[in-house]
Amino acid sequence: MDWSKSWFEGFKGVLREGVDLSSKSRLGVGGRAAVLVEPWAEEDAALFLRVCAERGLPYHFLGGGSNVLIPDEGVDAFVFTIPQWNRVVRDGNRLVASAGTTLPSLIRKAKDLGLEGLESLIGIPAQVGGAVRMNAGTKEGETFDHLVSVRVAEESGEIRELERADLNPGYRDSNLGNVLITTATFELKPSNRLLIQERIKEYLLYRNRSQPVTEPSLGCIFKNPEGDAAGRLVEASGMKGAREGNIKVSEKHANYFVNLGEGTSTQVLELMGRVQEAVEKEFGILLSPEIRIWGKEPNEEK
Ligand SMILES: Cc1cc2nc3c(=O)[nH]c(=O)nc-3n(C[C@H](O)[C@H](O)[C@H](O)COP(=O)(O)OP(=O)(O)OC[C@H]3O[C@@H](n4cnc5c(N)ncnc54)[C@H](O)[C@@H]3O)c2cc1C
Repeated sequence: MDWSKSWFEGFKGVLREGVDLSSKSRLGVGGRAAVLVEPWAEEDAALFLRVCAERGLPYHFLGGGSNVLIPDEGVDAFVFTIPQWNRVVRDGNRLVASAGTTLPSLIRKAKDLGLEGLESLIGIPAQVGGAVRMNAGTKEGETFDHLVSVRVAEESGEIRELERADLNPGYRDSNLGNVLITTATFELKPSNRLLIQERIKEYLLYRNRSQPVTEPSLGCIFKNPEGDAAGRLVEASGMKGAREGNIKVSEKHANYFVNLGEGTSTQVLELMGRVQEAVEKEFGILLSPEIRIWGKEPNEEK
């Protein structure tokens, strides 16, 4: 990618070229980012985005890397990453979390403050921004259930506060479009700390029993089709345990693919294709990916 630092005059933050992204992927796959962008403040992110838009420069947002499939050949693009934005501020029964805060640390903070509501999201290894972007959740509840507003940096260079009432989230999608989420505010309920702790423990026990939580994965690979569970369909199609190189359909939960070590993004895509084919042949249902797949072309995400 052809670019010049002088285009981003006024930007404060760190730019690092040729950074390996596999260590930032929960599945441990993927190549390098042309440039990793760590903005200091949301104004810096907005400025950077504006210049990218004006100059047609490609970019991606990376959160906790627990739901994106990064191509083996890497991405010829800027990749925004914000783990340094990790403040949580209390405002009455509300928690205002910077988007780089990890979801488990936000939930633990809420517990320490005696605020309930987010417990069912425990075990989702997201950052707050990624959880909002994906409307992460389980059948027990979703990120948007307790969201009151989000702040976003836009390609126009503006920072806007969006109210929950004006948003239209769907199943595993916030429908927020091409914006960098910088902050999210959650409305919670005062409760007993020990009760919250007990609920967290139960949710974690359930996860440990039913999901391969100790192995590298991207969580659920496919969305659940209406009225059914993708994991059940994959298992019933005989694909549980199927392997493509070092990527395997988990024996514990058939909607998870795990990396046995040295697996690749290409192997994930091949295995996804085989699973889709098997399920379609058996049940006539085409499973659609829940994971976000970064294409070879910049800004192309499926
Ligand atoms: C063990 C395991 C268990 C999981 N369990 C669940 C579960 O129960 N329920 C569930 O819904 N998911 C689950 N997941 C999937 C995943 O954790 C969620 O989709 C999560 O919301 C992804 O967040 P992230 O920060 O890792 O985002 P990433 O994977 O880094 O990115 C996901 C998407 O969000 C975008 N994004 C990230 N940060 C921002 C930001 N600040 N602003 C704008 N866009 C952004 C990315 O561009 C990408 O499109 C699981 C994953 C694993 C590995």
